[in-house]
Amino acid sequence: MGFIGAGIIVLAVFLFYASYSIRAGIYVRACCRGKVRRKVAALTFDDGPDGTYTPKVLDLLEKQGLKACFFCIGDRAAAHPELVERMVREGHLVGNHSMHHRWWFPWLPVRYMSRELRQTRELLEKRTGQKNDLFRPPFGVTNPTVARTVRRLHYQVIGWSIRSLDTGSRNTERIVRRIRRQLHPGAVILLHDRLPWCPEVLEKLLIVLKEEGYEVVRVDEYFKFAVD
Ligand SMILES: [Zn+2]
Repeated sequence: MGFIGAGIIVLAVFLFYASYSIRAGIYVRACCRGKVRRKVAALTFDDGPDGTYTPKVLDLLEKQGLKACFFCIGDRAAAHPELVERMVREGHLVGNHSMHHRWWFPWLPVRYMSRELRQTRELLEKRTGQKNDLFRPPFGVTNPTVARTVRRLHYQVIGWSIRSLDTGSRNTERIVRRIRRQLHPGAVILLHDRLPWCPEVLEKLLIVLKEEGYEVVRVDEYFKFAVD
């Protein structure tokens, strides 16, 4: 393999990394961690709402008076409008996580991607009565199309600093251990409220956060953006 071949491979690996690493901030400047020194952590939940597990997650948060951010999928929000309303009523933030969360979303042309985000925005704004300007890209994939779309729609992109990998394992002990190891001031923790084991993960995580002296905050405490 010649010099050019090696160069192409290096470039391909870099572009792949750039697309799949929201924290790298190569295409999109995403808010991934708070610049704070205090022991605070923000909880974020993707891919809901789910009719069975999201209420349990909301119950746990409500019991302890904690606020989180839910990045909802549009068609799931349409199926469970009462849960979106409950989120807002109980002081949580609701963000856009695309309409369908299909695997090809990152590869849609700007026009279709914009349409999907606009439809989701409309739906969420109707349910929440709030401006919807937080977006988390499905699969955390960012690329030039995602960058153009969020600029066009004036979305603030929220990433994460701690990936729980909760989708890959049902072992709640291991998931919480993994989060504990990565804890840092200004953490943004990624969880998924569509998972049957999410309430159990949250319950254990809240104990760990308390043990480690962490306070739970809403992501907008870190970042300066307009939230109603
Ligand atoms: Zn997702």
